[in-house]
Amino acid sequence: MRVYNTLTKKIEDFIPFEEGVVRMYTCGPTVYNFAHIGNLRTYIFEDILEKSLMYVGYNVLRVMNITDVGHLTSDGDTGEDKMAKGAKREGKTVKETAQFYTEAFFKDCSELNIDKPAVVAPASEHIDQYIKMIKKLLDDGYAYESNGNIYFDISKARDYYRLSGKNPDDLRVGVRDSVEEDAAKRNPADFALWFTVSKFQNQEMKWDSPWGVGYPGWHIECSGISAEYLGEHLDIHCGGVDNIFPHHTNEIAQSEAYFGHKWCNYWMHGEHLNDASGKMSKSKGEFLTVDLLKEKGYDPLSYRYFCLNSHYRKPLVFTWEALDGAENAYKKLKNRIKQLDRTPDLNENKTDAYQVKFKSAISNDLNTSSMMTILYDVLKDDDLSDFSKLYLIDDFDKVLSLNLIEDEPEIEEDKEQEILKKIEERAQAKKDKNFALADQIRDELLKQGVKLIDTREGTTYELV
Ligand code: AMP
Ligand code: ZN
Repeated sequence: MRVYNTLTKKIEDFIPFEEGVVRMYTCGPTVYNFAHIGNLRTYIFEDILEKSLMYVGYNVLRVMNITDVGHLTSDGDTGEDKMAKGAKREGKTVKETAQFYTEAFFKDCSELNIDKPAVVAPASEHIDQYIKMIKKLLDDGYAYESNGNIYFDISKARDYYRLSGKNPDDLRVGVRDSVEEDAAKRNPADFALWFTVSKFQNQEMKWDSPWGVGYPGWHIECSGISAEYLGEHLDIHCGGVDNIFPHHTNEIAQSEAYFGHKWCNYWMHGEHLNDASGKMSKSKGEFLTVDLLKEKGYDPLSYRYFCLNSHYRKPLVFTWEALDGAENAYKKLKNRIKQLDRTPDLNENKTDAYQVKFKSAISNDLNTSSMMTILYDVLKDDDLSDFSKLYLIDDFDKVLSLNLIEDEPEIEEDKEQEILKKIEERAQAKKDKNFALADQIRDELLKQGVKLIDTREGTTYELV
């Protein structure tokens, strides 16, 4: 598999630290409001990435945080905590606000067939981990206390600007408008690890720490959570391009200082979804949500289809016309698939060749539009039986997740008994070391659309 790595600015072979296993971390939402469909474009990209890694055979360990404390209105560590601001707006507590928008986020994800990562970690539940890391950073001279807060000293970091590829002056100009500089910092780009002093006194979520009662900075949350669940070597870290600086830059600085070695090998970033007026953003007031798409009568999966037709590293402009186009194409596609004849008849050689092509689209830096083209090629191929087409579509949909094949046929009682008998015969054949017979039974069942799955507990099956 080859992927574009923001760290090296190149497409590279993907080699995980441990063979066959991918440790993947994705920054989660800040739960002070609904996710807009731009945020969800990034989560669709990450979902496709995770499913693609599994498709090509990796075991993926994926962790995502939920930011429910410490993310200030300016990424440069000034302003109010977004959560406190959101809670005030809604007349709720921060906890209630976080719970409400976390649930709303996962509901949106499920409407878009975005799987929930194996570990979802609320930032407010890992305070001890951040304190442990900050203590070590202070002991080792990477951090300092000033005016009640703890800051990371970026002059101590190895090649601090390498992820963003920018220089300090560029970045300072970029943030000058919105950031008032904090006089307590040694260098304007130093960032807060722990706050005890804030001009906003309404901070609800606070914890005791060796430096006084306070709360963590946003960046240490992701380093802390990643370290806790994934250890000291990370294979892939993802987010949207706006996370490159300062968030991911700061994560690298503090994690590498903490571990004393390189931390994450591959950084992958999704480009933004923009609307006609520019970048979509929650602070703009009214913004596009999955619920709004539904209210207007769209199937949320038409939006997933829309995203899959462009590459994750290209900015994408959202218009209602473009979504109409995607919805039409998506409905037509599903209709075409519905017409396919389900009579079992599998052309294995041809299906293998298409699966190889699909894998190479994955390997080509997650080329989703190529994956879609291959799907359409399958439908057009006159040499493929309908059954083989269905088999491939079902297989590709493990990654695309567009519900391309709905209403799975119900299995009849007699048929089920017959399959179970065959499974028993195959188990007996294996016991007798008659592997040719065992394979023959498996292949015959597959031809009839029954795929056997061997697990430690025994053999089960699924209909393909
Ligand atoms: P937030 O909830 O603001 O922390 O953002 C959640 C995720 O959405 C982050 O990974 C951001 O990089 C990403 N993101 C923010 N705006 C956009 C956008 N317009 N298009 C795509 N992704 C975005
Ligand atoms: Zn993060």
